[in-house]
Amino acid sequence: MSKRLSELKGVGEKTEKLFEKLGIFNTEQLMNYYPRNYESFDRAIPISDVQEEKICTICAVITGNLYMNRTGRYQITTVTVSDHSGKITLMWFNMPYLRSTLKKGCQYYFRGKVSRKNGRLQMEHPQMYTPAAYDKIENTLQPVYGLTKGVTNNMITKLVRQVLDENTMYAEYLSDEIRQQFHLSDYNYALQTVHFPNSMDELIVARKRLVFDEFLMFILSVQQLKEKSECIHNSFEIKPDWITDEVIDSLPYKLTKAQTNVWYEIERDLTGHSLMSRLIQGDVGSGKTILAFLAMILTSQNGYQSALMAPTEVLAQQHYSSLLKLLKQTGIDNIEPILLTGSNTAKEKRIIYEKIESGAVQIIIGTHALIQEKVHYHNLALVITDEQHRFGVKQREALCGRENPPHVLVMSATPIPRTLAIILYGDLDISVIDELPASRLPIKNCVVGTSYRPTAYKFIEKEIRSGRQVYIICPMVEESEALDAENVIDYTKKLIDVFPSDISISYLHGKMKPKEKNQIMQDFASGKIQLLVSTTVIEVGVNVPNATVMMVENAERFGLAQLHQLRGRVGRGEHQSYCIFMQGNQVQETSKRLEILNKSNDGFYIASEDLKLRGPGDLFGIRQSGDLEFRIGDIYNDAAILKEASEAAAQILSLDPNLSLEQNYLLNLKMNSYKREDLNTLGI
Ligand code: ADP
Ligand code: MG
Repeated sequence: MSKRLSELKGVGEKTEKLFEKLGIFNTEQLMNYYPRNYESFDRAIPISDVQEEKICTICAVITGNLYMNRTGRYQITTVTVSDHSGKITLMWFNMPYLRSTLKKGCQYYFRGKVSRKNGRLQMEHPQMYTPAAYDKIENTLQPVYGLTKGVTNNMITKLVRQVLDENTMYAEYLSDEIRQQFHLSDYNYALQTVHFPNSMDELIVARKRLVFDEFLMFILSVQQLKEKSECIHNSFEIKPDWITDEVIDSLPYKLTKAQTNVWYEIERDLTGHSLMSRLIQGDVGSGKTILAFLAMILTSQNGYQSALMAPTEVLAQQHYSSLLKLLKQTGIDNIEPILLTGSNTAKEKRIIYEKIESGAVQIIIGTHALIQEKVHYHNLALVITDEQHRFGVKQREALCGRENPPHVLVMSATPIPRTLAIILYGDLDISVIDELPASRLPIKNCVVGTSYRPTAYKFIEKEIRSGRQVYIICPMVEESEALDAENVIDYTKKLIDVFPSDISISYLHGKMKPKEKNQIMQDFASGKIQLLVSTTVIEVGVNVPNATVMMVENAERFGLAQLHQLRGRVGRGEHQSYCIFMQGNQVQETSKRLEILNKSNDGFYIASEDLKLRGPGDLFGIRQSGDLEFRIGDIYNDAAILKEASEAAAQILSLDPNLSLEQNYLLNLKMNSYKREDLNTLGI
């Protein structure tokens, strides 16, 4: 039923290769490549009604002269257009050939984002349509797909049309009862409509079905995993050991009550009758790392190995250094930890593998390189994952299927309400660290406009002079023509001019080599770098308690949950910390959203308030956070559908736990392809 892409008209080898980069090899995958957003081609509005930061359509006549300017790498074309209500300037980047189209006196529809430059409104890089062309698409919703270099939206749209025009029908794998009970549309209708909806109402109906399906598949996978791991006998002989109390006593702080309780839960699991599968949820800065260390120390004291997996090398390196410090401080010298990451040379890796296999090392810290097949453990009893990205159900399943599966501990700072966590992590027991260390001063926040920048710089300098360190976050790595937002590279250059030369400034972004990134992070951690300009690569887990100021440029470009994670990089020590959200536009809705962060430092509260503000109609807003990314569903916005899917899963499994009955044959097939295709990429 599903065909290779090359069997479609107009698809040659080259196009096929390009689509493979998007993970699309066949027509079924193409159909499941849902639009990321839709463009609604509304009626044109008078120029006097256009609004800043909104995408608008106007119908106007070219009345001004055409100007071409060059600034840096860009050639900028500007022209003034008018209608009965007013005038507006349009501008394009690097499109010199517009010269022949933009003739004085001609009338076109222009559609683009309106922004304010030097106090005046203008439209950036608008698309142009003849009146006849716009008439055809007016009032429709057109799909907007995720793209990669060489693949245009038009290419995807055309191919999807071609497949739909062939009228291939896909099997309906949900029973009539389930569909009726949960008000779900037919699968083929949903698939067709999600690509080419005729109206918002249709789209909502179609989308609901696909979101439901995605959640259902996921929940069924998690539940099957639970069945597998639930009653596995704990074959490791682990006994409580005084050493952990000694570690706790030697800490420079007292564990919070919540930390202590969770530690007892972990200890009970490790020394109990069945294998541990536990999730620790705790807001940024709640102190999860020490619990991981305690669990690993206990495990190695009982003669077994344990592994701690982090999502980035920077974080793995940091955990490794902190553990070394902790062991030294407690005077433990019979445990040898080792760090294994993608940056190790082949030779180093070989030595590390040998040490792991022979049991010469007991605690292994690293990135996901840790669970690759080449790594043979001597006697692995515990696997811990920090920030759980990339450590999905699939990996847990792989561990579960081993001859001697280890205990599993998953640590996460993603704020998910308990009811949802129970569904999403159905195979794990959940512990919550619901308090921050008492010694912490709450972070002081402010939301400001860009005119506040000089004041902010003065403040930053003052903090640095008193010995503290500072992060400044920019949304982009380098300059881009499509987006008007601060970028790390140019911003750093600017700062070097602004700040006195004895302040050391450096930058960090995801396109740098892991080795360079590690070096920069180490230099920041040791205080060598005082001001670090960075993209969101530092979002997860980084711990430099001496950093007390975070300033986020273009804060409007980030989701609230993401900003909250970012902010978690400060306020980790005894000093008063500050977070400055720089709002790069003057849109009121943005100010309202940022105000939530300004008022609260509580991750759960922020997630729920953000949801309220966006309302259920905002299907395609900024995603809450980088992880838990489903293909179409959003756990926050679609929480109600998630709950329904969970109910449906329970009903289905109560009658047929292995999906082996005739009535679930198609569903089971679908599940298998889901596990093959989707589970890999999901960070749960
Ligand atoms: P997260 O939960 O975000 O992973 P970490 O484990 O990195 O947080 O802890 C953040 C900082 O707080 C670290 O510097 C850690 O040493 C410190 N810390 C952890 N627990 C406590 C505590 N009970 N009291 C004071 N500081 C603590
Ligand atoms: Mg952490």
